[in-house]
Amino acid sequence: MGGRGRDTPLFVYSRAHLQRRVADLRAALPSRVAIHYAMKGNPFPPLLRFMNALVDGFDLASGGEMELALTAGVAADKMSFAGPGKRDRELEAAIARGVTINLESEGEAGRAIDIANRFGITPKLAVRVNPSFDLKGSGMKMGGGAKQFGVDAERVPALVKQILERGADWRGFHIYAGSQALNADAIIEMQAATLALVTDLTAEIGTPPVHVNLGGGFGIPYFAGDEPLDIYAVGSALDAALGAMPDDLANTGYCIELGRYLVGEAGVYLTRIIDRKVSHGETFLVTDGGLHHQLAASGNFGTVIRRNYPIAIATRFDAKAEEVVSVTGCLCTPLDMLGNHVHLPRADVGDLVAIFCAGAYGASASPANFLEQGAAKEILV
Ligand SMILES: *Cc1c(COP(=O)(O)O)cnc(C)c1O
Repeated sequence: MGGRGRDTPLFVYSRAHLQRRVADLRAALPSRVAIHYAMKGNPFPPLLRFMNALVDGFDLASGGEMELALTAGVAADKMSFAGPGKRDRELEAAIARGVTINLESEGEAGRAIDIANRFGITPKLAVRVNPSFDLKGSGMKMGGGAKQFGVDAERVPALVKQILERGADWRGFHIYAGSQALNADAIIEMQAATLALVTDLTAEIGTPPVHVNLGGGFGIPYFAGDEPLDIYAVGSALDAALGAMPDDLANTGYCIELGRYLVGEAGVYLTRIIDRKVSHGETFLVTDGGLHHQLAASGNFGTVIRRNYPIAIATRFDAKAEEVVSVTGCLCTPLDMLGNHVHLPRADVGDLVAIFCAGAYGASASPANFLEQGAAKEILV
């Protein structure tokens, strides 16, 4: 770490952790299920380059992400592009390069086919289905009921038939029902419901999908009391469920798409204590970081009740916790709380605070321009 220059705040991502995580997942999942990285979790270019050698595909949610992935060397035919509100120029760039479009609506399907016709290209089109179920216990629900994502399941067969009639390369389905689940049974139930939906849709359409994206939803333990997801339970149930699919889907390929599960625990956010103060008997450690880099740890990114992310004094890892303090960022807002009443070793000005689970939805999901404190550095080690 060196001296006291502008070395903090800093995100550090571990190659070894990323590698082990993907290897463990491959060991747990059926070999026919491909692993895709949902890059909105962490689009740091060196991390993308590293992930490109580990995973089978990349899921993008904007034209900007597509450019980042292309620059990182990801092949266009490994990419699928989901996300509501794709502009014509994003569709044009994706179709011209042969990226699979996960269509979010009938209107988008029409625009994509018109663009492809104009280019004289056969577009690769999958349909994102808005399922009637959601992922139980999910942190962020993205299926079930009225949603801006995907096409309601009952309208999907008509849309797929139209895509086929218009001569497009229909790639299959994308079915994403939620995020951040730690309960294996909830994931197993969601995957079973997804496969049942695929079976029904295929019967109605009469043509099997080339590919099915089963969504993701694998969570990581952020908070005290959270237990890690049992991926072996998920993998063996998925193996059995795929084995029971009808014969006409025998040649269909499957994937899951994961963001935080792949990268979340591979990252740590380091910030330096610049003041230690007492107010009404409570001790505050004020750091040079904050919610402008790690919005999620402040509890302001998709959580209802604020809870502390795992936190430690990185310069005193082996010291015993001996005091209860609150760790704040440097922003002039009470929202900028990184650790509320946490039990830590004694720490002073100059010590480093580590906040774990910082590999996903950190630097790129935080309001870096807020209060002009500047962006955090990021490194892959
Ligand atoms: C956000 C998102 C993901 C990644 O979610 P994680 O919780 O990070 O795994 C995957 N797929 C889609 C469609 C998403 O919108």
